[in-house]
Formats: sequence, C-alpha cells, structure tokens
Amino acid sequence: MPQRTQILHNVLFSILFLSVLFSCKKKERKFLQNLKSTTKLVQQTVEKNKTSLKTIASKITVDFITGHFDPSTDSTFIQVSDKYADRHGMYMKKQAYDAFLKMWTAAKKDGINLEIRSAARNFDYQKGIWERKWTGETKLSTGENASKAYTKPEERALKILEYSSMPGTSRHHWGTDVDFNNFNNDWFEKGEGLKLFTWLENNASDFGFCRPYTQKDNKRPYGYNEEKWHWSYMPLSRAYTEFAQKELNNQNIKGFKGSDVASAIDVVNKYVLGINHSCK
Ligand SMILES: [Zn+2]
Repeated sequence: MPQRTQILHNVLFSILFLSVLFSCKKKERKFLQNLKSTTKLVQQTVEKNKTSLKTIASKITVDFITGHFDPSTDSTFIQVSDKYADRHGMYMKKQAYDAFLKMWTAAKKDGINLEIRSAARNFDYQKGIWERKWTGETKLSTGENASKAYTKPEERALKILEYSSMPGTSRHHWGTDVDFNNFNNDWFEKGEGLKLFTWLENNASDFGFCRPYTQKDNKRPYGYNEEKWHWSYMPLSRAYTEFAQKELNNQNIKGFKGSDVASAIDVVNKYVLGINHSCK
C-alpha cells in the first residue's frame, strides 16, 4: 500500500473508532439519564403510596368503620353501574370499584360474568336487616322465627350471626366488600358457579381481592359461616381491619335491638376479626 493511502486509511479508521466511541459514550450518558429519571419516578411513586396510605389511615374513624355515613353523599364512594350489578343504586369505595372494573374485564375475557349482588351497606341498612330477623318479621334461612325459636337474646343473636352481620360489625359498611352472583355456597360448587369460583380463587388476588369468610376450621374458629360469594378489596380493607383491631370495641356496637349482647358474644374479636388470615 502506498504511504499516502496508508495514512488516509489510518485517519479514516481513527475517525470511525472515535465516532463509535463517542456514540457509545452518548448512549451511556442517555442510559444513565434514563436510569436516573426512572429511579426518581420509582421514589416519587413510593412516596406517593406512603402518603396515600397515611391519608387512608388518618381518615379512618370508629363512625366510618361502624357504617355511620351515607355512601350516596360521601365523595369517596361511587355508584356501581347497572351493567355490573343485579340492581340499581349500589355503592363502593372508588378505589375498590376501579379494581373491580379491571377484574370484571379480565374475567369477561375468560368467559366469566361477575355480577355484584351486594356492595356497601351502611349501619341503617344493616340495622333494618338485623332487626327484621330479630323480631321474626323476616324468617331465618332455616324457616324459623328467631324471636320465638330463640328467646334468650344471646342465643338469638348467635343464630342470626350465622349469616347476617350485627349492625356496626359488617365489612359491607366499608365499601370494600362485595357479594358476587349467588348467595348459596352450593351454587359455587358445580357448573357455571364452580367455573366462576375457580377463576376468582386463581385471579382475584391479582386485583387486590381476598375472600374473608373461608370455611371455619382451627385456623378460623370464629366468625361468619363460609361465604363463597363475598370478596374484599384488601389495599383498603386491610387498613380498616387493622384499625378495628386497635380502636374498635364491643361498646361501640350499639343502637339496635339486641345490641346489649355484643360484649357477651365478643362480637368484635370473634366476628369483625374472625376472618381468613390471609385477608389480614
Ligand atoms: Zn357479603
């Protein structure tokens, strides 16, 4: 190779080498910049979540936990669209509803049709259910009139508590808990019901939902009987359960027929906190 060509060759090679090096440096700088902004974003999200958890915790009160509010006028609640429910006028906490909508869409894609049968129920609503059973106006699921079949107040309360919450102790007060499709455990044990239940067992936790009333056994000796239809939005209800554990006591459970027996039954420990451990 003649010397001039050799020099030219070396110069071209050097330019090429330097531009590759420069481009690598540029990419490295860009990568580092991206890394920095991603780290910042993650830190901001963590801080935001911390603040929002603190906000949730600071807003929990005994009045809220015991259902003394009106979901139709409370701005943290939203009305459930008729598309997802079997009747008009049900409410959920906004965050829980957003998570439900995501879960509903995912379930629909898998051929599962989730239908809300019950959502938020405040103290007054629950008081109506409870007192109708207490006085015998509504029969128990056994067909019995509770006021005649169970004359001792504690016994009567325990019988009603098998399936209905005492006012002030229901997770339905919180707007985080919903009942899906059917109120019979049998329905969830075959056919369409089993398919839906299996889907929920496999997927609900991805959307933040957990089933608080699992079968009673030595891990869950107290509380309501098993309810395969009842699911709870944990990111909020976990904070409410924690609050109930610390702040709620049997004396707060009052203002309805039969409330005198709340302490004797230890309704807060046994029913409010007597849930599936993985939902705590
Ligand atoms: Zn329920």
